[in-house]
Amino acid sequence: MKLLLVGEVLDGAIVPEVAELFGFAARLGAETSMVLTGASGNLPAFEGRLYRADAVHEFDMTYHKRFVLAAIEREQPDAVVFLHSSYGWDLAPRVAFAMQAALISGIVGLDGGGYLVESCNGKMRRTVRPLTGRAVLTIQPGAFAVAPMQGSPEVIDIDAEPDAAVEFLGCIQPERGVDLSRASVIVSAGRGVGSAERVELVRALSEALGGEVGASRPVVDAGWLERARQVGSSGQNVSPALYVACGISGAIQHLAGMKGSGFVLAVNTDRDAPIASVADVLVVADVAEFLPALTAAIQARK
Ligand SMILES: Cc1cc2nc3c(=O)[nH]c(=O)nc-3n(C[C@H](O)[C@H](O)[C@H](O)COP(=O)(O)OP(=O)(O)OC[C@H]3O[C@@H](n4cnc5c(N)ncnc54)[C@H](O)[C@@H]3O)c2cc1C
Repeated sequence: MKLLLVGEVLDGAIVPEVAELFGFAARLGAETSMVLTGASGNLPAFEGRLYRADAVHEFDMTYHKRFVLAAIEREQPDAVVFLHSSYGWDLAPRVAFAMQAALISGIVGLDGGGYLVESCNGKMRRTVRPLTGRAVLTIQPGAFAVAPMQGSPEVIDIDAEPDAAVEFLGCIQPERGVDLSRASVIVSAGRGVGSAERVELVRALSEALGGEVGASRPVVDAGWLERARQVGSSGQNVSPALYVACGISGAIQHLAGMKGSGFVLAVNTDRDAPIASVADVLVVADVAEFLPALTAAIQARK
């Protein structure tokens, strides 16, 4: 099997999850090549062809689509693989439509000859396989182990014309908010916290520990905390020495963002919540009772 992996770059640097694309390819025993737009620093280490386009058009997806199609033209892969990230969500459907190929998105595993994908917001899983000769796939960050990156690719510079149907006029870049990636302690609020008022219990514990406040996506969607504090596949990747998950179930998209944490303390009323599989300590308790007690105990020791 031949895979064309679509790498991802942020501020000139390759995002670390790109190693998971190679992990996915290794699980399939596939031959790999990669297309990458905008990398100004180190290139990924692997054996294969690397199609490189410059960063001038960093925010213009019409160019990115053309770059990927140019690499497909040369490689003729069986499948084109993206990360299931905001970049992949934007680009993969454009590429699949241009190829008239099946799009299978959010792959979390392999199941016989098919791909395992989540549906109903992660509540059920389906096994599917493409019926077109070639396919476009997106893989869920955190679902596949990273592959060791070694080797030196043959670099081929590519260029392409933009999509004639759309003219790119400009973009507004997001404000850079709080940087959770450097925090050594993060106390995160999940939906189980119950309300914006109760988020203050999380904030108080975080202050007592000298840490930062994080959040799961429903907490951000509800407006209880700002988006810059979201941890997970569509939020920030964090690796604090201590991660306290308060009323967080442990969905794969959340785990993808915090699996690099040192010690994980989870507080949850459900002893069978998936967060238990990554927690060093699971406290089966109501956050409204446990968090004030823990905060008071920490403050009493100061
Ligand atoms: C494409 C995509 C991208 C996503 N990206 C992200 C992402 O970046 N980050 C992210 O977090 N999610 C993300 N999600 C959403 C993810 O699938 C989950 O829906 C989300 O992580 C669940 O958040 P939660 O654990 O706070 O809520 P829930 O899953 O509702 O869990 C709440 C937990 O709180 C517990 N609980 C309830 N009451 C209490 C109480 N009083 N005390 C203690 N515990 C209590 C419950 O037992 C439960 O385990 C994404 C989903 C999709 C489809």
